Amino acid sequence: MTLYLHDTLAREKRAFEPAHADRVTLYVCGPTVYNYAHIGNARPVVVFDVLFRLLQRLYPQRAVIYARNVTDVDDKINAAASEQGVDISVITDRFAAIYEADMASLGALTPTTQPRATAHIGEMTALIEDMIGKGLAYESDGEVLFDVGAYDKGSGRYSQLSGRSLDEMIAGARVEVAANKRHPADFVLWKPSKAGEPEWDGPQGLNGRLKGRPGWHIECSAMAERALGLPIDIHGGGHDLIFPHHTNEIAQSCAAHGSDEPRAYARYWMHNGFLDFSGEKMSKSIGNVVLVHDLVKTWPGEAIRWALLSGHYRAPLDWNGELILQSRKALDRLYGVLLRNVDIGFDADAAPPQAFMEALQDDLNTPRATAELFALAKELDSAEGIGAKHEAKSALLAAARLIGFLEGEPDAWFEGGADEELKAKVEGLLAARIEARGAKDWATADRIRDELNALNIVVMDSPTGATWRLRESEPT
Ligand code: AMP
Ligand code: ZN
Repeated sequence: MTLYLHDTLAREKRAFEPAHADRVTLYVCGPTVYNYAHIGNARPVVVFDVLFRLLQRLYPQRAVIYARNVTDVDDKINAAASEQGVDISVITDRFAAIYEADMASLGALTPTTQPRATAHIGEMTALIEDMIGKGLAYESDGEVLFDVGAYDKGSGRYSQLSGRSLDEMIAGARVEVAANKRHPADFVLWKPSKAGEPEWDGPQGLNGRLKGRPGWHIECSAMAERALGLPIDIHGGGHDLIFPHHTNEIAQSCAAHGSDEPRAYARYWMHNGFLDFSGEKMSKSIGNVVLVHDLVKTWPGEAIRWALLSGHYRAPLDWNGELILQSRKALDRLYGVLLRNVDIGFDADAAPPQAFMEALQDDLNTPRATAELFALAKELDSAEGIGAKHEAKSALLAAARLIGFLEGEPDAWFEGGADEELKAKVEGLLAARIEARGAKDWATADRIRDELNALNIVVMDSPTGATWRLRESEPT
């Protein structure tokens, strides 16, 4: 079975072939760490986590190297640090740790490596020096700029990824016109820091080493090359990054290495669609920003993950209360099947079934893959005999766990969200209820039911005994 991925550069699905089958590399643009990640920021994390897991299934585990960078030098970081009167590392260390914990609660595996921009300034200036040496970068007003005109020379190669011509970019005001630029699309590789802001020795080859800091795009060109080696097999991010960020990454890396071929930098480009909030763009000014950090206090991380994977990754996804509620119900159904079959064993090394793998290998079709999970759950429920049930349960868990679902115990899923005190109280009431029923003391049994109801507990009776869960909270 071949893995097909939609490649933004080719504008179609392509059969995936890594440059080296024993070393598969994936680079995804990571967070700028100065505040909490919102649920839109979590979409690429979860989508590319599915790809990472799938690649590990298709290639030897250690062959897959996944790098997700941390942007820890940026204007917004500087602003936050000066506002709070602290070093930037106080801000970036804090929010990098929060980011990792929040993403882990959505079931996202830790990438193989998470390079930080501030640890790779030397690689950035080296690339800039190469560009200066080739006449593709120039100094102007204390900044070093990339010379888009000299790079493109009317060939259209600067526009290959975005599909927008340079003229269109200028007309659409997608590039900042500035007096010190030779061409409006020229972008900053290096710039001076403001007083009190962190600065590093700049590239050589100009009039002295300009002290300052790197531009955003050069950070990823340098970190991707350093962490993975070129060409990277797959480069990913949200579709807002196609232009200018990824367009400029290709231009810089090809310029520095004297290559005409964009695939000398990355062989496949993948971009996730945007997440909107009830039809609107999620933005601070509208006041509809939903933080992952807050969401996981109310909803199981697994349900949030399900919601993020409920649509195809390239399509826009509308985040609303109904989506997360439906996602939890979907998992209720799957965990419900596991609960009914809790005594059945399973083979932890079973292979996920073909139909499920086909869905994933068709450009990560998670809606089809999750539909397969329901089909597998149904097979488990209707299987007859221990052997058949064992096989069906193994198939369901192999598939679900490949993409980060059904890793917990069904009991824990249904009791999730209750604190220890409440758990003890509910267990006590359920025991008393069994006793009252056994003694045909219906009045007491009814009273206990009302009490459980008041505690927001839903009791589910089954042949193997009663389980319970907290009643659904209001959707966020
Ligand atoms: P940023 O911190 O804005 O650079 O974003 C980090 C990652 O999240 C990038 O890959 C963005 O493309 C992606 N991203 C930001 N906002 C959204 C959104 N609303 N929906 C989907 N992806 C997003
Ligand atoms: Zn990047």
